[in-house]
Amino acid sequence: MPKATETVLEINLKYLEQNYKYLKSKLQPKTMFLAVVKAFAYGSDQVQIAKKITELGADYLAVAYTSEGVAIRKAGIQTPILVLHPQEVNFEEIVAYNLEPSIYSDRVLNQFIAYASSINKQNYPIHLKFNTGLNRLGFLEVDIDQIIKKITETEAIKVASAFSHMAASEDLTEKEFTDQQIQCFKTISNTLDGLLGYSPIKHMCNTSGILNYPDAHFNMVRSGIGLYGFGNDVKYDVYLKPIASLKTVISQLHYLEPNQSVGYNMAYKVTNKMITATLPVGHADGIGRIYGNQKGFVFINGKKAPILGNTCMDMIMVNVTNIDCKEGDEVIVFNETYTADALATAAGTISYELVTGISQRVKRVFNF
Ligand SMILES: *Cc1c(COP(=O)(O)O)cnc(C)c1O
Repeated sequence: MPKATETVLEINLKYLEQNYKYLKSKLQPKTMFLAVVKAFAYGSDQVQIAKKITELGADYLAVAYTSEGVAIRKAGIQTPILVLHPQEVNFEEIVAYNLEPSIYSDRVLNQFIAYASSINKQNYPIHLKFNTGLNRLGFLEVDIDQIIKKITETEAIKVASAFSHMAASEDLTEKEFTDQQIQCFKTISNTLDGLLGYSPIKHMCNTSGILNYPDAHFNMVRSGIGLYGFGNDVKYDVYLKPIASLKTVISQLHYLEPNQSVGYNMAYKVTNKMITATLPVGHADGIGRIYGNQKGFVFINGKKAPILGNTCMDMIMVNVTNIDCKEGDEVIVFNETYTADALATAAGTISYELVTGISQRVKRVFNF
């Protein structure tokens, strides 16, 4: 890759391949792989990622919202797509674009059966979401009889899969809770198969579930963050490579004297002679105000430059007093060495939030 001459998000599809192969190596050969490509594939590019991951052999894709699935279909990708969080208003598009809804409540089940029946659909694939402890979306175990009665009374829909989501798969101090969730989902799965008379795909592991709970892979796993290069534990840093690098440039250097200040509201007060660099990346690009006031930092010529004062909408100012650099030099906000995880952690958040927040105005460039 040439050096960045403006703010760009570089996306390395070779790393995506490496991450996918690593995660696959943790699965039984027959276990299916669902690639989670919601939120612009965790801030990268949903179409390029969906294409590549399908070529690599992923069996399923998942998005959160219907519009995300529509964008992938419009790019010509035919892989089955699970829509994790649809609303009734989305059903027409879901069916028109051959997307498969997660059905997470009695309300949504009734609405989808009514819609699918009204357009004479037969065996339209749906995915039943069960709540086993996260208390976010999903039916409870006690709902099964009633749900299955409704499903077997109509020809319109068919259960393609049943799934649940772990609340703390990355936190081994909560292993007991996760084991209870797994047990609960096993019971649900067995009851479901018995009542349906067929056996839909079962899945509950996200990335950390894949890595920490090999006995809970069921027929399929759902990975997002791992594909993008984060394993939620330093021990995976050697295997998983962050696919996205946020790079920018030094627009201007300033030579400041004691008692001057930097940025809006004089948030940083200069005490000793200082050199600052102004960079064209700000909170509208996804580097939020939490990274300001020296919580966050960037790297210039291999050296760490803390962010001074408040993050502006389109700029940050960083301390380069002890860094050999000049205007036009490349700046690394995060890459595979200076990771988004490290930057996010320093500011009190998580890699998921930082990477999904890189806004659409930042140009994406691909390394195929
Ligand atoms: C986002 C999401 C995932 C992916 O989780 P990762 O931790 O990124 O692997 C899996 N399942 C559901 C239901 C999700 O919402």
